Amino acid sequence: MSRDTRAVISTDALRHNLEVARQHADGGRVMAVIKANGYGHGLLRVAGALRQADAFAVTCMEEAIPLREAGYAHPILLLEGVFEPAELKQACRYRLDIAVHSEWQLRLLEDTRLPRPLSVWLKIDSGMHRLGFQPDAVAAIHQRLLDCAWIGPHVRFMTHLACADDRHDERTRLQVGNFDAVTRDLAGEHSIANSAGVLGWPEARRDWLRPGVMLYGVNPFIDGMEAPALRPAMTLKSRLIAINQYKAGDSVGYGATWTCPEDMPVGVVAIGYGDGYPRHAVSGTPVLVNDRETQLVGRVSMDMLSVDLRGLEQEVDIGDEVTLWGQGLPVERVAEKAGTIAYELLCGVTSRVHVQLG
Ligand code: PLP
Repeated sequence: MSRDTRAVISTDALRHNLEVARQHADGGRVMAVIKANGYGHGLLRVAGALRQADAFAVTCMEEAIPLREAGYAHPILLLEGVFEPAELKQACRYRLDIAVHSEWQLRLLEDTRLPRPLSVWLKIDSGMHRLGFQPDAVAAIHQRLLDCAWIGPHVRFMTHLACADDRHDERTRLQVGNFDAVTRDLAGEHSIANSAGVLGWPEARRDWLRPGVMLYGVNPFIDGMEAPALRPAMTLKSRLIAINQYKAGDSVGYGATWTCPEDMPVGVVAIGYGDGYPRHAVSGTPVLVNDRETQLVGRVSMDMLSVDLRGLEQEVDIGDEVTLWGQGLPVERVAEKAGTIAYELLCGVTSRVHVQLG
C-alpha cells in the first residue's frame, strides 16, 4: 500500500462549470480566472480543460508566460498589470493584456517605448478600495492612456466587486452604479463580474465576465444558497493507515484537545497540513470514509489526522479511502469549519500530493 494522498482533478467538471458560466453570460465573453496555479488545480491542466474560454486572467508574468509558451493564443490579462519596464516589454513580446490601476503604472507606460501596441484595461475603484483609480480621476486617466502612442486604440474598463458573495448586500448595486457613472460617456468594453457577480447579479454582466472560483465547482455565495449545479473539480483523497480502539476519557492527538466520550475506534488518515489540509479545521469537521460521512477528531498534524469511526467499525479497514473534500463533500463545508474560505484550501494543496486525472 502506498501513502496515496492525492488530488483527483476532473477536467469534465471544469468544462461543465465553464458551460454554466456561459449560460449566465447574457452574451458576454468569459475570461476564465486561472491565477494561483489555476486555484491550485494546475495552471496548464486547467487551461487545457478551459480552452473554450474566450480569454484567461492571471496575476503575474510567471503565470502568463507558461500559457503562451504552451501555445495558448487566447487573450491573457495580467490582473495586477506590470511592475517594471522589462515586464512591459515582456507583455508586448508575449502579447499580454495589462490592467493599469495606479498612477505609477501609467507613468511606466508613458515613459517606456514599446515596439508594438499593448491592450490595456483601466481599473476603476468603484468601492472595493483595493486597486484602481478613483472615479473622479478616470476621464483624465483614460485620455492619458489614449494619448500614449503604444496603447492600442481601445482602452477597456474593469472593476472588482467587494461584496457580491452576499446577495442581500446593496453595496454591489452601488459599485455597479459608480462604475456606470464614470464609464457612461467613454467608449470601450466593460468587465465587472466575478463568479458571484456572474451567478447572482445580472446587472454586473457586461462584455466580459471574470469567473474564477465557480469554475472549480465552488458555490461563491456566503450563505451557500441557490447556486446552480456546479461540479467540484478537485477531490482530495487519502487512506486510513491505522485503526485504534480507545477507552472513554482517552485523548487524541497533539495538545490532547479531544477526548473520547466512550470506548470507540479512531482512524488515522495519511494527510495533514503538510499536504494542505487546514490545521485550523476543528473537531467535528466532516470527512468521508468509504463515502460515509464522519468527523475529524483532535488536532490536524503535519502528516496525519484522526477520524471518528463509531458506527463504521464493521465496514472499514486499513487502506480504505477517505475523502477530505470534493465529490460528495463540498470544500466550502470544510473551509467553514477551518475558519477560512474554499479559495484558500484549493490554493493550498502542496506539491507532495499526487495529482490524478479523474
Ligand atoms: N477578477 C479579479 C480582479 C480577481 O481578483 C478575482 C479573484 O480574486 C476574480 C476576478 C475571480 O473571482 P472569483 O474567484 O470570486 O470568481
